[in-house]
Amino acid sequence: MRINISRKNIKNSFVEKIIEISGQNLLHCYQCGKCSAGCPAVSEMDILPNQIIRFAQLGLKEELLKSKSIWICASCMTCNARCPKGINIAEVIEAIRLILLRKREDHVQIEKLSDDEKTEVPPIALVSNFRKFTS
Ligand code: SF4
Ligand code: SF4
Repeated sequence: MRINISRKNIKNSFVEKIIEISGQNLLHCYQCGKCSAGCPAVSEMDILPNQIIRFAQLGLKEELLKSKSIWICASCMTCNARCPKGINIAEVIEAIRLILLRKREDHVQIEKLSDDEKTEVPPIALVSNFRKFTS
């Protein structure tokens, strides 16, 4: 994997958004790897939990958003319990998922639906769409 590390990336808005949503200080991580060593889903991941934190520190947005690990994470919180620095890794992963979901939230724009479409669309689909605006 080719990685572009630059000063501009390290302080980008993606990093700030992860910190804002997760409430975690990414810089506390010193890459001990205890989170990955205890993760039950690690064999299916393309980026390990400690690497997710490292990539987030470095602002590697594209690598994180296209990673399958953020969807494989089962939010079991084992990594949170094992981290000697008290970082809630699961919340960081959740924040990355949320950023991606919010990015896609306008795939369906309710205001652009015709009256006919609004009456035909199942209510649960509309509710689901609204939930993305508030996730
Ligand atoms: S919360 Fe996710 S990353 Fe952490 S141990 Fe569980 S599956 Fe692995
Ligand atoms: S356990 Fe904590 S300090 Fe160690 S690599 Fe994972 S996030 Fe970083």
